[in-house]
Amino acid sequence: MDYSKYLNKTIQDVKPSGIRRFFDIVNEMDDVISLSIGEPDFRTPWHVRKAGIDSLENGKTWYTPNRGFKKLCQEISGFVQRKYDLSFDPDTEILVTVGGSEALDVAIRCLVNPGDEVLVHQPSFVCYEPLTRMCGASTVVMNTKAENDFRLTPQELEAAITDKSKVLILSYPNNPTGAIMGREDLEALSEVIIRHDLIVISDEIYSELTYRGNHVSIATLPGMRERTVVINGFSKAFAMTGWRLGYAMGPKEIIAMMTKLHQYCIMSAPTVAQYAAIEALRNGDKDIDHMRGEYDMRRRLVVGSFNSMGLSCFEPGGAFYCFPCIKSTGLTSEEFCTRLLHSKRVAIVPGDAFGDCGEGFVRVSYSYSINHLTEALGRIKEFLEEL
Ligand code: PMP
Repeated sequence: MDYSKYLNKTIQDVKPSGIRRFFDIVNEMDDVISLSIGEPDFRTPWHVRKAGIDSLENGKTWYTPNRGFKKLCQEISGFVQRKYDLSFDPDTEILVTVGGSEALDVAIRCLVNPGDEVLVHQPSFVCYEPLTRMCGASTVVMNTKAENDFRLTPQELEAAITDKSKVLILSYPNNPTGAIMGREDLEALSEVIIRHDLIVISDEIYSELTYRGNHVSIATLPGMRERTVVINGFSKAFAMTGWRLGYAMGPKEIIAMMTKLHQYCIMSAPTVAQYAAIEALRNGDKDIDHMRGEYDMRRRLVVGSFNSMGLSCFEPGGAFYCFPCIKSTGLTSEEFCTRLLHSKRVAIVPGDAFGDCGEGFVRVSYSYSINHLTEALGRIKEFLEEL
């Protein structure tokens, strides 16, 4: 049967993720040591798991309010106020979602009309472009550069704006580069954003994982709160990827629209995860500090190793990835990763999976134990020596 005539045309035309394509090869091979996954290797802290277990034991297995438990929205509001000086009303300005992923999807669908242009900087996380295209809109890509520490500059933003531009998706701390944007960088961008009357979707899912000062949210800058939807979640900060819980925060008119869409497509985010998340926010600060400390140690090891192997590696200020440049080997990113995989059985991700300008780089995740990292780095060193 030919299904193509039944299947949605727009979705058929969207390319599958480059990360997935590479994982499909990796999954068919034995003995591969991977530095390719974008998730914490830590278990969710026990007291958080226990809160989830307790909720199940007590039979608390019903739908929650569409927006999420009021108690959870209050905890989120308190957490982001305490951590980032963000103030969002728990009753009207917060929506609890199925991971940051759903928050991004719903935000894009509520803000974008067919024909609009969405500004996306790359290299960046893989879902922004497909989600935009599935709304019948297009993205305008801004290529960030290693020499600017992969920060988006006001000039790059200004040059990409047209009269169709509506939304800017900002993604810092950045996956895959580990770049962060400080207050001054964001101030310079916000001047352009306000002048061109753009709305920002700010994906801050790695906000708890910064290694040079605290995360700054663009929504805290003058004139930005009213034009920003902040996306965050529990996956990275609390090692809770499988619980599938995130949230969006923004002006009540936008959150109301997003809640309407969420109500029809999701109903409510997982109940057990919401109970666990309340505990994480109430009593999880020390867990975050512990995990951040561990990532920081690994970060130094990995960045130092790449630089000493002669692959220049920009020092990431956040998330848990580094993005070494492999141009000196004369190989493309895909060739580098494929040859490394076949000859040394180490999996890392070609940089161009995160946008064309990622060509010449590879993404290495350091959310692995020191032993695992040391073994993989040793094999990469051998690979380079044998090239
Ligand atoms: N944003 C970025 C930048 C990410 O890297 C990820 C996950 N890799 C997500 C959003 C989605 O995370 P989740 O749905 O697990 O909250």
